Amino acid sequence: MLNPKSVNLGKARSPIRELFEYAKTRKKQIGEENVFDFSLGNPDVPPPEQATEALIKIISECEPVALHGYTSAQGDFSVREAVARDLNARYRADLDADCIYMTCGAAASLTITLNALVNVGDEVLCFTPYFPEYRVFSERAGAKFIAVESEEGSFQPDLNKLERALGERTKAVIINSPNNPSGVVYGEEVIKKLCALLCEFSARRGEPVYLISDEPYREIVYGGVKIPCVMNYYADSIICYSYSKSLSLPGERIGYIAVNKKAGGFAELYAAVCGAGRALGYVCAPTLFQRLVEKCAGLVSDLSAYKSNRDILCAALEEYGFSFVRPDGAFYLFVKSPEADANAFVARAKKYEILFVAGDGFGCAGYARIAYCVSREMLARSLPAFKALAEEYNLKN
Ligand code: PLP
Repeated sequence: MLNPKSVNLGKARSPIRELFEYAKTRKKQIGEENVFDFSLGNPDVPPPEQATEALIKIISECEPVALHGYTSAQGDFSVREAVARDLNARYRADLDADCIYMTCGAAASLTITLNALVNVGDEVLCFTPYFPEYRVFSERAGAKFIAVESEEGSFQPDLNKLERALGERTKAVIINSPNNPSGVVYGEEVIKKLCALLCEFSARRGEPVYLISDEPYREIVYGGVKIPCVMNYYADSIICYSYSKSLSLPGERIGYIAVNKKAGGFAELYAAVCGAGRALGYVCAPTLFQRLVEKCAGLVSDLSAYKSNRDILCAALEEYGFSFVRPDGAFYLFVKSPEADANAFVARAKKYEILFVAGDGFGCAGYARIAYCVSREMLARSLPAFKALAEEYNLKN
């Protein structure tokens, strides 16, 4: 017999991927310019020029056998040193190379971290709405995944609800700010309060709850908003990062895990990360892109296009009568469905060739996610369709 959980997971395709596939077919049928595809969080700006130049230089100058060879499992020392240096410079994080484990993107960072922490029957908590793979990775690691509702209307963490959800088996809390799918950012006060709650609970229980901060959108923030570094507020913290969004390299699979040096039993914790990476067969992160990270750790793509898209989309949707929380980061807008069932809303949008995904898969019914990492031209072309959709719902009355 095959592993039934894997069979079921393979059959139940991600609604995001499904819509992405539909978009490709539909574009062939009616022409690319007539489909308004907001389904996927695929960056629409190129990597920074400096990164492309560095990549060309690395390929042309490095000795090819070494360039394409294995590195140490946790990543090359000088690469990890560069990552630690960058985090220390930007966040006073007090890390060194031996706190960093290079990964194949944030997905690998998360699944390795969860496998490092979880014993069968432990619980992993996360606020709604959440990236759907948190549940998949947590359950695969043997945990029970528990969604904790965010504050109604703002999508900020509801700490009272979190306090009630913490228990004997809570192993970790996952946070994600800027958030996919809401675009909401958690400010310093919220992070401080959340960390104080976890500190107090962990001390009372005599065993830490780990805070996993999933940060692939850390640099994608608007209007001078600051992302606090959890390591400055909570010792038992782990950052899962990826360059997929900040350097526009999602297909190259490169990221890292940063384990807080101040975590209790740091050496054991880091060893567990290495062990989980090994057991999951990751071997090492792509060597070529490790070399790139060494040269470009603090670089970010030109994010101004996302900001303009956010401003254009927010202004238009507001004018047409849609409700949403204005996103401060990432490149997603979480719009309230004008009818109770967001899947019906998504289906109705499809009639106007607008493709976006229902919030149900993100643990938040009644909303839909619009990924606005798209070309300005497509966004502009889509606005009359959004207007027609709003009119069908009579939103202005
Ligand atoms: N975490 C969040 C919140 C994401 O949105 C994504 C991808 O969209 C990931 C993790 C996975 O990122 P990566 O492509 O680097 O594995």
